[in-house]
Amino acid sequence: MSKNILILPGDGIGPEIVTEAVKVLATLRDNHGLDIEMDEALVGGAAYDAAGHPLPEATLELAREADAILLGAVGGTKWESLDISVRPEKGLLGLRSELELFANLRPAILYPQLAGASTLKPEVVSGLDIMIVRELTGGIYFGQPRGIRELDNGIKQGFNTLVYAEPEIERIARVAGDIARKRNSRVCSVDKANVLECTELWREVTTAVFEKDYSDVALSHMYVDNAAMQLVKAPKQFDVMVTTNMFGDILSDCAAMLTGSIGMLPSASLDANSKGMYEPIHGSAPDIAGQGLANPLATILSVAMMLRYSLDEPKMAELIENAVNKVLDDGLRTPDIMSEGMKQVGTEAMGDAVVAAL
Ligand code: NAD
Repeated sequence: MSKNILILPGDGIGPEIVTEAVKVLATLRDNHGLDIEMDEALVGGAAYDAAGHPLPEATLELAREADAILLGAVGGTKWESLDISVRPEKGLLGLRSELELFANLRPAILYPQLAGASTLKPEVVSGLDIMIVRELTGGIYFGQPRGIRELDNGIKQGFNTLVYAEPEIERIARVAGDIARKRNSRVCSVDKANVLECTELWREVTTAVFEKDYSDVALSHMYVDNAAMQLVKAPKQFDVMVTTNMFGDILSDCAAMLTGSIGMLPSASLDANSKGMYEPIHGSAPDIAGQGLANPLATILSVAMMLRYSLDEPKMAELIENAVNKVLDDGLRTPDIMSEGMKQVGTEAMGDAVVAAL
C-alpha cells in the first residue's frame, strides 16, 4: 500500500527548500519505485494568514492520517507581535504534542568536503558523526506547575517543574538503544544526577533498560556540564547521546554548530510507531527568503531520514546521501557553505544537481 506523505512548506525559505526536497521524493517515486502519495497543507504564519491559526484543524487531520510529514520551517518577523497562542511556532509545537512525537533525532555530521566550515580544528571535527536523541514531549518544558506568581512579600517568583515518569525515560532510552545498534553500539546518557533527583531516576531507569535489553550496546553516563565541554573538546568520542528535553535542546544546537553549516543538518521527531515529522534544524531564515539563496540540503537530507526511520527504505536513504556527497564532491556550494575554488549555486540549481546525481 502506498505511503502518504504530508508536505508542510511553512514560512520564509520553507517553500523554496521544500520544493527541492519534493523534487527528490518525486524522482524516487517516478524512477526508483518508491510507492508514495503526497499531500500539501499550511502551517505556521502562512496558515495563520489563511485560516487564523498556525495549526488549522484541516492540517492536523491530514497530519494524523499521514505516514510521515516533511516540514520546511515556520516563523518570521511579520508574526512576531501576535499573541503567543497563535504565533507560527505554536503550529510546530502543536504538531509535536498532538502526534506524540517524543523522540527527536538530531544527527551532527561533518562532511569531509566541508571540514573548513567548522570553527574547530579540522582534525578535531573531520568525519564527525554524532546522533543526539532528545526527549521532546516531557521534562521541564511541559512540567506542571509552572508560571510566575507573586509571593506574600510582593516579590515575583518564576517557577517550572522538571518531571519524568519511568515510562517516558524507558521509551526514549529504547529509541537510543535501537539507533545505536544500527551505528557503533555506544550510547552516552546525559543527566545532572548529582544535583537533580529527576535525572537521578533518569540514570537509574536508563541503566536498567540497557542491562535488561541492550547488553550488546555500551552505555555510559555523563553530567550535562561535562558533556558540553566534551562536545567542543573531543566531539568524535560520541556515537549516540540520549538526554532530556532541555539538555537536548542545548546540546544538539551546540553539536550542530560544530559542523559550521546550519543549512546541512536534518532532524526527525518520531512517535512510538516510527511515524515521524522530518525537518531541517534551521529556521525560516527571513533574511534570505525569496532570493533563491537558501541551502536545500538539510531538507533533502531530512527526506533521507524519513526513508530510513518511517518508510523503512534504507537503500533509498543511502541513494540520497550518496547524491548529496556527489554534488559536494563536484564542488557545488550554496552561499552559506561557499569557499574558494568551489562553484556557487542557488537553491534550485542545488536541488536539480541532487536530482541529477540520483
Ligand atoms: P534561522 O535558522 O532561520 O537563521 C539563522 C541564520 O542562518 C540566518 O542568517 C539564515 O540566513 C541562515 N540560514 C538558516 N537556514 C539556512 C539555509 N537553509 N541556507 C542558508 N542559510 C541559512 O534562525 P533565526 O534567524 O533565529 O530565526 C528566523 C525565524 O525562524 C524566527 O521566526 C524563528 O522563530 C524561526 N525558527 C523556526 C524554526 C523551525 O521552524 N523549526 C527553528 C528555528 C527558528
